[in-house]
Amino acid sequence: MAANRGLISAMLQAKCPRCREGDMFQYSLFNITRFSKMHQTCPDCHQKFEVEPGFFIGAMYVSYAMSVGLFLITGLVLYHLFDDPELWVYLTVITILVIVLLPFLYRYSRVLYLYWFGGVHYRQKHKTTR
Ligand SMILES: [Zn+2]
Repeated sequence: MAANRGLISAMLQAKCPRCREGDMFQYSLFNITRFSKMHQTCPDCHQKFEVEPGFFIGAMYVSYAMSVGLFLITGLVLYHLFDDPELWVYLTVITILVIVLLPFLYRYSRVLYLYWFGGVHYRQKHKTTR
């Protein structure tokens, strides 16, 4: 167990923003049917994740911004790689990417939203002496 997990590492692993130990989600990102199931409170420090009712509705904006970024990057890559292919190529590739990345977008939009707007501050549980 990492006693002092960094912010980026905690976010990538979808850990609780308060203790950076407990998982926000109950199942793996790759569990197709259950990836969206969250813990109500942190299994480690009991921080409530939905800090106010409907809190995660705001995560839709983060998800939207991530999707737009994905569209732009995919569009640019296709444009340069295949010398501006037909419209259906853009649409097909983007549709497949969005479906494949849906669990990723769903989870990281919530992680980012909670870290940025949740007002939860990191509190190191076990002080390490250096
Ligand atoms: Zn916690």
